[in-house]
Amino acid sequence: MSAPSTPFEIARETLRQLALRRITPTPDNYLALYQEVSGQQVGGEPFPGKFLRILNSKLPQSTPDQLRLARQLEEAVKAESWDDYRTHLVAFISDLLKSQKLPWATLIGDLLRQWEARHSGLTAARKREALEHVLTASSANPETLYNRLSGLLSSWEQAGETEPHPPSADEPPLPDSAGGDDLLSELRQLFAFALETAIATQLQADPQLASDAQTLANDIRAAGNSVQLQEIPGRLKRFAFKLELLAEDQAELRNSLLGLLRLLVENIAELVIDDNWLHGQIEMVHELINQPLSQRAIDAAEQRLKEVLFKQSQLKTSLVDAKNAIKNMLTGFVDHLADFADATSDYHDKIEACAAKISAAEDIGALESVLSEVMRETRNIQFSALRSRDESRAAQRQVEESQERIRQLEHELEATSTLVRHDQLTGALNRRGLEEIFTKEIGRCQRHNTPLCLGLLDIDNFKKLNDSLGHEAGDHALIHLAAVCRETLRPQDTIARYGGEEFVVLLPETRLDEAMTAFKRLQRKLTKKFFLHNNDKILITFSAGVTQLIEGEDQNSAIKRADRAMYQAKQAGKNQVISA
Ligand code: GH3
Ligand code: MG
Ligand code: MG
Repeated sequence: MSAPSTPFEIARETLRQLALRRITPTPDNYLALYQEVSGQQVGGEPFPGKFLRILNSKLPQSTPDQLRLARQLEEAVKAESWDDYRTHLVAFISDLLKSQKLPWATLIGDLLRQWEARHSGLTAARKREALEHVLTASSANPETLYNRLSGLLSSWEQAGETEPHPPSADEPPLPDSAGGDDLLSELRQLFAFALETAIATQLQADPQLASDAQTLANDIRAAGNSVQLQEIPGRLKRFAFKLELLAEDQAELRNSLLGLLRLLVENIAELVIDDNWLHGQIEMVHELINQPLSQRAIDAAEQRLKEVLFKQSQLKTSLVDAKNAIKNMLTGFVDHLADFADATSDYHDKIEACAAKISAAEDIGALESVLSEVMRETRNIQFSALRSRDESRAAQRQVEESQERIRQLEHELEATSTLVRHDQLTGALNRRGLEEIFTKEIGRCQRHNTPLCLGLLDIDNFKKLNDSLGHEAGDHALIHLAAVCRETLRPQDTIARYGGEEFVVLLPETRLDEAMTAFKRLQRKLTKKFFLHNNDKILITFSAGVTQLIEGEDQNSAIKRADRAMYQAKQAGKNQVISA
């Protein structure tokens, strides 16, 4: 039988073969057999151009290589050449894998060795320049970068004698830093210079840290051997840590200052009655920013300002009341005046009418009724006059009372700035002031991870002093003690009157042993600075309990612990300091 040639014959032969070979008559099997019978490819898969284009558009195109690949793939799709497409893609991926396998670790190791090595005629600056050039010129392609870096490396290797520089503890002293080619020396000089000019000069706020930076710079310059150099990183780390703390403090200062200014500005809008008070507030801020800034000074100014603002708002309300009272009085007075005028003109009319009646009267009886009318009208007008007078007086009293209230408020206003958080007698903080500062100090010592100590002192035999010298002398003894505390303790320590003759002292950034020393110093000071009463020298002693705050502890529990230690000091014979 001749080979089937027409589509009809091919179809019939395909069906016959399907039956003959017992092949399941699925479309795929029919197609395969059809192709076999006809000896040609029929239909076939269409080229998936649409999908490949989508794929192309999603491929990264940020480097030249990637762009090239995208272009090649695009052309392959246009030409519907699956072979081209596959070749380009496979080549790209193989290159990529190859570049990833580049021995980077070795290259970097070699580069570092050459970087540290000394080369004649090749300064550190020139090395840096060459490296930067290579890095910027070939950053996009790892292979190019690798090749160029290798080139750079071999050029350095060839650049004269190379002396590897592994640091070792028993190494002889470094050559004199005057050698201009000495990279390490140059780096050291640069670093010392940066410490001096860029860092130390920025540290006016902290002279100690500035001098640390200067010392460090000097030592870096002077380091004569690697042993001396080895201790530099540790010192640098500690220095950096302190710098970090300072930066934190300064940020905090700035925020507080901004808060303060904001408060002031907000209040300016409110103040419309008397700008003298505004001057007072501005002066307060002025005073604050004219002295070295400290968080404590800002906190104190903020509290004072808040209190003054509160008082001012009260005062303003009172002034408005007083004004209203004066207005009411005036309106009332004018009304009464009008009434009175009405009444008097009425009175005149009536009296005139009566006078007419009197002249017309013909007998006593008629006259009597006219007279009683005259009397009634006169009484009325008198009553009206009296009422006007009383009401005017009441209004006047009201105004005077308001004015007195204003004077009183103004007086209070003057006093508020110091009294609200301070004890009136001694000028030390009162309990409320202590509570606020205590909260702030706890926060501060947590942030900086510094110790905070607290001492509670109670004057010994104070009742006896009061009884023998009088209550007023007792008052002066309290003032004296507070003054000696302020003189003896540091400015950052807080002194608060906790009760009658009990004081609490907060000592930030102080360890327990240091706090004990501070309290003993205070004891000694009191034996030198006597309290004078009528020219008699009176020795004041105290018993104290001192404790260090435990992390997470609240104010009361620390005060209680100090109080127990103070009690022990009393039990042990007074005039002692005991640590809890
Ligand atoms: P001890 O040594 O045990 O502390 O005895 P003391 O006498 O100091 O303590 P006590 O608690 O018995 O007495 C304290 C006295 O302090 C009683 C009180 O009248 C007096 N006091 C409290 N506040 C003031 C004040 O503001 N002025 C004066 N002058 N005395 C005060
Ligand atoms: Mg007491
Ligand atoms: Mg006492």
